[in-house]
Amino acid sequence: AGAAKIIDGKQIAEDIRREIAAEVAALKAATGKAPGLAVVLVGARKDSETYVRSKKKACAEVGFESFGTDLPEDASEQEVLDVVARYNADPNVHGILVQLPLPKHIDEQRVLDAISITKDVDGFHPQNIGSLAMRGRSPLYVSCTPKGCLELLKRSGVELKGKTAAVVGRSNIVGLPVALLLQNEDATVTMVHSRTPDAAEVVRRADVVVAACGRAEMVRGDWIKPGAVVIDVGINAVDDAAAKRGYRLVGDVDFKGACERASAITPVPGGVGPMTIAMLLQNTLEGAKRQIGAPAN
Ligand code: NDP
Repeated sequence: AGAAKIIDGKQIAEDIRREIAAEVAALKAATGKAPGLAVVLVGARKDSETYVRSKKKACAEVGFESFGTDLPEDASEQEVLDVVARYNADPNVHGILVQLPLPKHIDEQRVLDAISITKDVDGFHPQNIGSLAMRGRSPLYVSCTPKGCLELLKRSGVELKGKTAAVVGRSNIVGLPVALLLQNEDATVTMVHSRTPDAAEVVRRADVVVAACGRAEMVRGDWIKPGAVVIDVGINAVDDAAAKRGYRLVGDVDFKGACERASAITPVPGGVGPMTIAMLLQNTLEGAKRQIGAPAN
């Protein structure tokens, strides 16, 4: 017991970023062009500023060209739509990301719908999610965090075909696309949400558990089927007087308890988190290759 293999998302994300940098160099050599990502930030939320900064830094590190527009908190919806329209039309921009949440007076759906689906690297456009959900179709982009969860499973050699999976959470940005992706890999998927009468009972039957409920350590160790693989998407700050900042980060899974039963598990931090930006880079590279035209070798 207690011997769960730790799935090292930080290391896997680093490997992927190195692979991307090599591909970018090859693309530049063949076409003279680099993938371009535009990040739109409205307002001055500290957390959003931090995310945007790290996304831009990650772009620079793999050789992308990065574009950015920062608008003030009181920018109008039309101003945001104008910025999106400008990037839609710019041939040097292959991916557009609008950092969420937007200020309350702006209709988030209208802004996301305005992003060209060919540049929708966050994969939040309803047409991309719809294509993910339909048999025989493939989306141009899959959202970064869900894609990162699947990539972790793949690179850890976890077989999904014929397995049972439980996804805790059904949000548009995590739970729903994760469930669709697992189903596309031929897992039999059950989704758990806040109205599920007995979440523990559903999770106990699962060979693969993805937790994305935004509730600190809600998924208890004794919910985990012995030998199951656990992907913990949650990022929750809990007060901790002993920690330097006065808080520490925990997942949506009771990590210690789950380690007693799982065969493999992602830690928080250092699991799914680092994969999100790696997948954003991968989506932008894929989009750039489609838009530039694949190099002739
Ligand atoms: P949301 O709050 O949008 O969704 C939470 C989901 O969990 C909802 O579907 C909700 O159900 C369900 N839920 C809430 N309480 C319970 C409960 N008691 N039992 C069962 N289900 C419950 O969160 P997100 O999907 O945006 O994020 C989920 C977690 O992942 C968060 O901790 C977030 O911080 C983290 N996250 C991490 C990312 C990363 O690693 N890069 C990126 C994005 C998110 P209902 O639909 O019924 O309300």
